[in-house]
Amino acid sequence: MALVELRGVGKQFPNGVSALSDVSLDFEAGAVTAVLGPSGAGKSTLLRTINGLETASSGTILVDGIEVGPRTLRVVRRRVGMVFQHFNLVPRLSVMVNVLTGRLAYRSVLTSLTYLFPASDHELAESALKKVGLADKAWDRADRLSGGQQQRVGIARALVQQPKLILADEPVASLDPATSDEVMRLMVDLARSEGVALVVNLHQVDLARQYCDRIVGLRAGKVVIDGAPATLSDSDLHSLYGGRP
Ligand code: ADP
Repeated sequence: MALVELRGVGKQFPNGVSALSDVSLDFEAGAVTAVLGPSGAGKSTLLRTINGLETASSGTILVDGIEVGPRTLRVVRRRVGMVFQHFNLVPRLSVMVNVLTGRLAYRSVLTSLTYLFPASDHELAESALKKVGLADKAWDRADRLSGGQQQRVGIARALVQQPKLILADEPVASLDPATSDEVMRLMVDLARSEGVALVVNLHQVDLARQYCDRIVGLRAGKVVIDGAPATLSDSDLHSLYGGRP
């Protein structure tokens, strides 16, 4: 059984937009997959339905054998870390507290209201900050950091969840090319060394080719490409971005 199994997944928004249609995909444990496609192809909706931020209109999604649905959101989200384009940090809070919020799915409402995390959570957060090279910034305010550093905090926050899967939604789209490359390499290296599956939405074909084991291409809500980077031709990619599907 794959770590994530989508079967016939469709998503229609109330305004009638069909963002995903009949998507069936497996994501294996530990694998690094890029999702490519033009704007509006459904990449973000795909990731959001996997962790239940959006509800699929049809089909089923299993994460680690658990069907994603209203009653399983908490257990699914413990297994799934998210990394966002705009980092989604709390700007006034320290780097450390931002990373600790990754533990909230495991903690009580009281912890979330008071930010009183147990020592074991602090140890996990310190270790994650070391892994992303920010141990010395732990007590800086998050909004004092550069964009690349803020995304490293976002990655550390995902790691402290000890997830089986990280979903990264355009994680380098707000960064300059050199920083994008660094952040992408770090995220992929950490996913591999920690044995975490990574599904990452990207605009940059070159980053997908360079760092990922597999490229899934979406166009108008449908999977039109699925294969190892070396098997993808320029014409495959042309069809994804502009030509006929
Ligand atoms: P991508 O990430 O590939 O740019 P999205 O998943 O964001 O694509 O969007 C897919 C389609 O669904 C687009 O047509 C978008 O406008 C539409 N869409 C996304 N979110 C919503 C929403 N909350 N309500 C209505 N339409 C939406």
